[in-house]
Order: sequence, then structure tokens, then C-alpha cells
Amino acid sequence: MAQQVPADPSSVVDDIAEHNTREVASDLASKRLAIVNAILVGPKGAGGGDWVLVDTGVMGTTGVLLGTVEARFGPGARPAAIVMTHGHFDHVGGLEQLAAQWDVPVYAHPLEHPYLDGTRSYQPPDPSVGGGLMARIASLYPRGPVNVGRWLRALPEDGSIPLMPGWRWLHTPGHTEGHVSFWRETDRSLIAGDAFITTAQESAYAVAVQAPELHGPPMYFTPDWSAARQSVELLAALEPEAVLTGHGPPMRGPAMREALHRLAAEFDRVAVPERA
Ligand SMILES: [Zn+2]
Ligand SMILES: [Zn+2]
Repeated sequence: MAQQVPADPSSVVDDIAEHNTREVASDLASKRLAIVNAILVGPKGAGGGDWVLVDTGVMGTTGVLLGTVEARFGPGARPAAIVMTHGHFDHVGGLEQLAAQWDVPVYAHPLEHPYLDGTRSYQPPDPSVGGGLMARIASLYPRGPVNVGRWLRALPEDGSIPLMPGWRWLHTPGHTEGHVSFWRETDRSLIAGDAFITTAQESAYAVAVQAPELHGPPMYFTPDWSAARQSVELLAALEPEAVLTGHGPPMRGPAMREALHRLAAEFDRVAVPERA
């Protein structure tokens, strides 16, 4: 059974803002939606434009997400863009509705586009890897491919992110081929998607209590563990001050960095399932 790297509880970001968002900076917050996080980037009260939504939660949580968006950015708030770390079902739950409602561009790595333009669906999660959470996961799994082709755009090859100034995207494959993370050098903030996570997504207990632990990507999807290890090594080498992941609370500081380096160094033992 794979393990985790425990982190000091003091590294968990517990600055709670409106709608139970966890705030890493005045313009950066993580909102938990059932089993997954959406990230809100941009100044509070920004209203229309000048902010970006990273990932869109799992199916059935779009109403809650819209409430959080209005609480943070103002009534009728609408982002400049939606930016995707990857196209897994637990990150695209609100995507079709929100892209249409807001009529804004959706940016993703070109390798994720087939999963976002109606061409293909990811394989359903493998219930033999994991355990307690699988019944819930299965019931949330969508019936058909997601299609936001009308709004879909490729992230520019130069690493910039349109409408997200100060941030750069990094290709961090392994969990999916086109998985990307987002990095802001000025305050060393990292949005890591599912490249690594801060809770055990395979365990319903850990998801419920959100224990401060660093884990590799969720096991029930990740097809390329070698690439996944290299991606964690790349992200650890950035020496982030704060990390916001797709699952689990944001974390910050030296204890988080130490745990992240241990995760990278011991990745094959800690993160990779035995049968992989
Ligand atoms: Zn994922
Ligand atoms: Zn995920």
C-alpha cells in the first residue's frame, strides 16, 4: 500500500475568507467543492474581467461555485477566462455550463483538447485502485464527453497565460498527458492541479478530515508514473512558498517545502501503487 509524506499541520493555510475559501493571498484562493478544489485568481471585487477561474469543480457543485464567485468578485461577476489544469471529470463539472453562461475563453494544454472538445472521454476510474471513495466517484462520473470546443483555446507555447498576468504555465504530465501547473514567481505561488495533492484522494476518511499530507497524483487515474515523478521533481525544485492543489487544502512555508522534496525524493515508494 502506498503511503504519504506527513506535513506539519502549521503548513496548512487556514485563512478562511468568504464562502469558506482558503486564502493564500488577497488575489488567490482555493474553494473546496465536495471532493475537489477550484482556484480563484484575481483581486476581490473584480466583477467582470480581471480575474480567472482555474478548474470548475465536480458535477453538481456549480451552484455553490457561482455563489462563491459572486461573494468574492461581486454580483454578476464573470471571469476573463477559465483555465484548466487538466480535463478529468472532477475538474470539468461546471465547465460546459459556465463557459456558455459567461461566454469566455477556456484555456488548456493542446493534449487535453480531445477531452474538452467532445472527441474523447477519459477511462472511468479503476475501482480496484483506491477504496472507500470509489462508490462516490462512480456516481459522479459523467455519461458523455465534455464539449466546450467553441470556447477552447491552446495555452501559448511561450509559457504565458492569457488574461492571467504574472503567471506562467508549466507542462507537468504523468497524471494526464496535457496536465499543466501554474507558477507566479513574484510570491512563489504554485497551482499544482493533480500533479501532487495534499490529501489522500483514495481514502474517504482522509478526504473528510483533510489531513495535512503530501501525496502523488490520485492513483485511480495516473497512467505514467515516470512522468509524474519528473513533474513532482520539477515543481519541488521551484521552492514554492505556497501550493494550491486540486485536492486537499493549500499549504505554505518551509514544512510544506520539506514534505514536497521528500515526496519527490521518495516518489517511487510513496506515491506509486505497487502494481504500477
Ligand atoms: Zn485528475
Ligand atoms: Zn482531480
